[in-house]
Amino acid sequence: MNPNLIHDPWKIVELKFDPKQQEASESIFSLGNGKMGHRGNFEEYYSGPSLQGTYIGGVYYPDKTKVGWWKNGYPEYFAKVINAPDWRGVKITVDGEKLDLFKVQISDFRRELDMRNGFLYKTFRAKLNNGKEIKVESWRFVSLVNDEMGAIKYVFTPLNDDVKIELLLDVDADVSNRDSNYGEKFWVEKEKGTSPYPYVVAETKKTLFHVCTAFGSRIKINDQEKELNRKNITREKYVGVIYELELAKENTLTIEKIAAVTSSLNYNKGDELKQGAFDILKKSLEKGFDSLLSSHKEAWEKKWDESDIVIKGDVEAQQGIRFCIFHLNQTYTGTDERLNIGPKGFTGEKYGGVTYWDTEAYCLPFYLSTADKQVARNLLIYRYKHLPKAIENAEKLGFKNGAALYPMVTINGEECHNEWEITFEEIHRNGAMAYAIYNYIRYNNEPEYLAKYGLEVLIGISRFWAQRVNWSEDKQKYVMLGVTGPNEYENNVNNNWYTNKIAIWTLQYTLESLDYVRQNYPDDYGRIMEKTKFEAKETEKWTDIIDNMYFPYDSKRHVFLQQDGFLDKELKPASEIPEDERPISQHWSWDRILRSCYIKQADVLQGLFFFEDEYDIDTLRRNFDFYEPMTVHESSLSPSIYSIIASKIGNEKKAYELYLRTARLDLDDYNKEVYQGLHITSMSGSWMSIVYGFGGMRVKNGTLSFEPFLPGKWDGFSFQVRFRNWLLKINVSKDKVSIENQSNTQLQIYLYGEKIMLKPGVVQDFELRNKTHQVNA
Ligand code: BGC
Repeated sequence: MNPNLIHDPWKIVELKFDPKQQEASESIFSLGNGKMGHRGNFEEYYSGPSLQGTYIGGVYYPDKTKVGWWKNGYPEYFAKVINAPDWRGVKITVDGEKLDLFKVQISDFRRELDMRNGFLYKTFRAKLNNGKEIKVESWRFVSLVNDEMGAIKYVFTPLNDDVKIELLLDVDADVSNRDSNYGEKFWVEKEKGTSPYPYVVAETKKTLFHVCTAFGSRIKINDQEKELNRKNITREKYVGVIYELELAKENTLTIEKIAAVTSSLNYNKGDELKQGAFDILKKSLEKGFDSLLSSHKEAWEKKWDESDIVIKGDVEAQQGIRFCIFHLNQTYTGTDERLNIGPKGFTGEKYGGVTYWDTEAYCLPFYLSTADKQVARNLLIYRYKHLPKAIENAEKLGFKNGAALYPMVTINGEECHNEWEITFEEIHRNGAMAYAIYNYIRYNNEPEYLAKYGLEVLIGISRFWAQRVNWSEDKQKYVMLGVTGPNEYENNVNNNWYTNKIAIWTLQYTLESLDYVRQNYPDDYGRIMEKTKFEAKETEKWTDIIDNMYFPYDSKRHVFLQQDGFLDKELKPASEIPEDERPISQHWSWDRILRSCYIKQADVLQGLFFFEDEYDIDTLRRNFDFYEPMTVHESSLSPSIYSIIASKIGNEKKAYELYLRTARLDLDDYNKEVYQGLHITSMSGSWMSIVYGFGGMRVKNGTLSFEPFLPGKWDGFSFQVRFRNWLLKINVSKDKVSIENQSNTQLQIYLYGEKIMLKPGVVQDFELRNKTHQVNA
């Protein structure tokens, strides 16, 4: 954990500069606007260890697969949203010495991520090796108003002497990825120039995306705008502009650097792409940094109005959840159905910025409840459009007849993952795609989605499950062999309970959906039957599988077993693992992990979370109590699900402990890996641990339902949710629950299982019923 970060409700504040923390801080201080984003790298020269990262959603490179032993069926490449041309450089040389933050003495350092207003602020004083002392203040943001624009304001003051300055503003497309499989650079230059603005048009190899990165600037001395002489410098994939000036002691040099980034995803290549960038610059430079920032702040205010969670009496918890909400809103805005949510968003290279089951299983609920319907819908449409590729993917593995296997990792629908135990075996992901369709329709009451898009996807996935199971003569049941469940610390297991469960559920849901669409949308039904060449007799096998699927169960403890043979393991609590051996993924050999009972992330509990309504509280409690002690939560996706179930079963202590772990995972760096980037997809889990956990929100039989309780450490909390055409604000204080229906029609909900009618525009108060919590459990 970075000891220089302090708790604050609206900001992430770093009080001291420590080069050893720099890469971790670069992740924490990342910025994004759904279309592009970057790590919190310095604008200045920096020769210390740093992971430079600027990313543009959807602009990727298919990096040729690198594995030790090739296995048939492996994908040819791993798609990466690559490090993109960097426009952030504001590099200053003072009396011949570069202001390199790794080489000068830094004092009064402060870096702030202002989450309320969506910008990054930094200030420091520095003593250069030539004795010159200077002060810097800088502000930076990537605009929510125009998502192709970013801006920096940089204020430089010499403190103890007059200085000669060389100011270099640049755009650098000569960038590479640290995780490039063959050390290859992914960009080639197409064009560059300095008029009307400095720009570079770069092209990705193989995928041939074009990106124009251009910048303009305004320079002031002591608040007086100056036209300075400039010298252009160019080299391959690089354009810089140098200004030389003299600055008297205590005078200030202010630089506003505005950048425009356009890509061939949205413009025709050539003049249109460049002109798009130049137009943005012209308009933005006229407005100037302060005015651009103020519109950007307004856009953030709107985001917070819709998605903020307020926690009273616990600043650590408050900061944690706002950090999550902030990054979720920075990563995905739902304006473009071709974009999705990489596990690290725009904050690092790991996971390649591409799409995992995380989107459907974790992220969807946040966007469902905090944004316009279209935002969540676009996440589903992304997968709908990938259905033909999912069918191809299954065909490559030997499945037939329109069976669809969605990839573990993808950007364009093709599988990119290349570890056999995950690529071929972690097939539960297919179920998450089906569950997301159900979840979306249930939440929004939008059955047309099923008719227009959902059913086709469900048929493909169900066909896959029907072919993936086999009949066991021995068990006289259907079984599913050779899989990896969500707990990736077990591979090639038989009958992973969660996978079997979600497979059967999908078959059942598809059967119901077929009936529903046939009765209510006959035209769509006909179209889908023809398109999928569906035959009624397919459902006979599905029904047989539903009726005769095998589920491993421990009839002594009455818990679902994660997989066949789980009880043969030496069952020991994770608390016995010495602290210096954690995380075990970084200390233990892989075979030792596989043989151990330790669980990386929610597996059986993932199923109990999805299908909670099918189980009574005792079943939830028994399974929680059995699995939780063995769970090491070494996937960021884990603690939130455990926290929600802990809330449900009244184990407040665990619910709160796991909430802090999920919400502050990156800020407190629990898994000692934040330098690689932030865990964006699990941030939605953190949001769920409050709204679904402490707020007890569910949709039951089409009706919104709440069972809130107040964690002992808190004085109160509030959140708002959009539900269909309603906007509700729920406020939980020490003795009451207040619900405000901010819409203009009434809504019936359940509160603690009782029907309540919420009148429009009114705040209604109800008694808070803190369940009997096992506070000290
Ligand atoms: C988890 C997966 C997840 C992936 C990306 C892995 O560590 O085990 O469930 O999809 O990270 O977040």
